[in-house]
Amino acid sequence: MDIKDIKTQELVKKYNFKFSKSLGQNFLVDGSVLEDIVEGADVCEDDLVIEIGPGVGTLTAQILKKAKRVVAVELDTDLIPILENELGDNPKFSLIHKDALKVDFNEIIGDEESVKLVANLPYYVTTPIIAKLLNEGYKFKSLTIMIQKEVAERINSEPNCKEYGALSILVQYYCDTRIVRRVPPSCFIPRPKVDSIVIRLDKLEKPRVDVKDKKLFFDVVRNSFNMRRKTLWNATKGFNLSKEDLEKAFENSDIDQKRRGETLSLQEFANLANAIYDQIHK
Ligand code: SAM
Repeated sequence: MDIKDIKTQELVKKYNFKFSKSLGQNFLVDGSVLEDIVEGADVCEDDLVIEIGPGVGTLTAQILKKAKRVVAVELDTDLIPILENELGDNPKFSLIHKDALKVDFNEIIGDEESVKLVANLPYYVTTPIIAKLLNEGYKFKSLTIMIQKEVAERINSEPNCKEYGALSILVQYYCDTRIVRRVPPSCFIPRPKVDSIVIRLDKLEKPRVDVKDKKLFFDVVRNSFNMRRKTLWNATKGFNLSKEDLEKAFENSDIDQKRRGETLSLQEFANLANAIYDQIHK
C-alpha cells in the first residue's frame, strides 16, 4: 500500500477536526497497519464489511477497494459530514450515525451470506462491543479488531494465567482466535498510552462446548471470576440449590468444590454448569 494513500493527517487538517478523548479517538496513520488489517480480515469481493468507528474513513477507504459493500457505524456527529463528503460518492459505502452498542446488526446484515466485521475499536467500549457482537448471535464470519494489548492477552489466555477470566471464556466459547500483529502507539494520532493488537476472531460453526443453558453457563463463569479468591463452592452458592444438590452437581461434574474458577477449562465450566442445571431441573 502506498503510504501516500494514508490521508488521515491531511483530512484532520482539512476539516479542522478536534479529537475527542472520551470517544476513544486514536486514528491510524500507518499504511502497513491498514494493509495488515484488511489482509488479516481476508476481505474479498463477496463480503459485506461492517466497520465500527470509521473515524475520518482511512481504513474504510482501504476496505472499500476490496469489499462488495461497507456499512460504517459512527457515533461522533462531527465525523458524519466528513465521511459523507469523502466517501459518500462511493455506491458501495453507507453510513449509520449511531452508538454501536445500540445497533441491531441484523438490520444491516439482512440476508447477506458473507459478513465480516472490521474495526479499530474505541478502547473505552471494547469489551461491551465484543460481548454484544458475540452474545446477540449475529452471523458474522469473523471479527478483525484492533484492541488494547492487555485485552487481547485476556482473550487469548488459558487456565491458571493471571489474564484468564470471563472474557477469555466468552470469546473462546464462540471463536477461534488469531493474533494478526502488534501495533505500537506511534502508528496513531494522537498516540495512545498503550500498545495495541490486531486480533481476528473466527466464529465457530457452533460453540466450542455444549451447554444446556447458556445464561446459566455464563452466570457460573461470571460468579467464579467475580470472586476470584473464593472457591467454586462459594461462587456457586447463589444458584438456589440445597447443600446436598450442589454437592451432587460437583460430584457429577467431577470437579473439586475447593478449586477456584481461574483453574477451570472451558469444558470444565460447561460440565459444572450442566450439572448445576440438572440439579435445578431434576
Ligand atoms: N477507524 C479509524 C481509524 O482506524 O483511524 C478510527 C478509530 S478510533 C480508535 C475509534 C472510532 O470509534 C472513532 O471514530 C470514534 O468516534 C468512534 N466511536 C467511539 N465510540 C463509538 C460508539 N459507541 N459507536 C460507534 N462509534 C464509536
